[in-house]
Amino acid sequence: MSNEFNTINFEKSADRLVPVVIQDTNSDKVLMLGYMNEEAFEKTRREGTVTFFSRTKQRLWTKGETSGNFLFVNEINVDCDGDTLLIKATPAGPVCHTGADTCFGEKNVQHTKIGEASFLNYLQKQVIRERKLNPSEASYTSSLFRKGINKIAQKVGEEAVEVVIEAKDEDNDLFMNEVSDLLFHLLILLEQKNIDLDEVINVLRSRHK
Ligand code: AMP
Ligand code: ZN
Ligand code: ZN
Ligand code: ZN
Repeated sequence: MSNEFNTINFEKSADRLVPVVIQDTNSDKVLMLGYMNEEAFEKTRREGTVTFFSRTKQRLWTKGETSGNFLFVNEINVDCDGDTLLIKATPAGPVCHTGADTCFGEKNVQHTKIGEASFLNYLQKQVIRERKLNPSEASYTSSLFRKGINKIAQKVGEEAVEVVIEAKDEDNDLFMNEVSDLLFHLLILLEQKNIDLDEVINVLRSRHK
C-alpha cells in the first residue's frame, strides 16, 4: 500500500467531499458509498477503520460507531483524476442500516434490469433506423424496408410460426434463435410504422397496476 495520497483533489467540489466506494475485499461486492473530507480521510488512514463525513449528520461518522459493524481497511485506491476513492475493506458485519450485507443488495435496490431491454432500444434506434434512413445494398434489413410493410409483417408472421414450432422442441438454443428472429423482425415492423419500442413498453406499463 502506497503512503502517498497527496493526489486526492478535495477542492474539486465546493463541500470538499470526495465520494468513496467501499468494496468487500473478499467477495468483491460493492458494499456502500460514502463521502470523505480530508479529516475523515486522515482518520481512516490513521485508524484503519472507515470514517466518512456524513452529509446527514454533518459530522465525522465512523461506520459501525453504534452498530459495531466497522469497515476494516485493506486497501485505499485513488482514481485516475483524484476525485474518487475506492476502498477495499473487510466488514465486521452487515453494512447496510437495513441489515443487508450490502446497500446494493437484492432487497434494497429497486432493480430494473435495463441492460438487456436497452439493447433492444439500441437495435431499433441505432442499427435498424440507420438501415432504413441510409439503406445499403448489402443489408438484409434495408432490403426489407425496400419491400415494404406487407413483406415485413409477413416475415414477423413467419418467425412467429417458427417460434411456435421450436417451442415444442427440447432444444432451447433453436427456440431462442427463433425468438430472437421474431424480436428483430418485430423491431423492424415497429420502425417501419415509426413507433418506438419505448411506446410499446409504455402501453405494457400502463396495464400494469
Ligand atoms: P453505524 O455506523 O453502522 O453504527 O450506523 C449508525 C447510523 O448510520 C445508522 O443508524 C444509520 O442512520 C446510518 N447508517 C448506517 N449504515 C449506513 C449505510 N450503509 N448507509 C447510510 N447510512 C447508514
Ligand atoms: Zn475521477
Ligand atoms: Zn444501506
Ligand atoms: Zn427464424
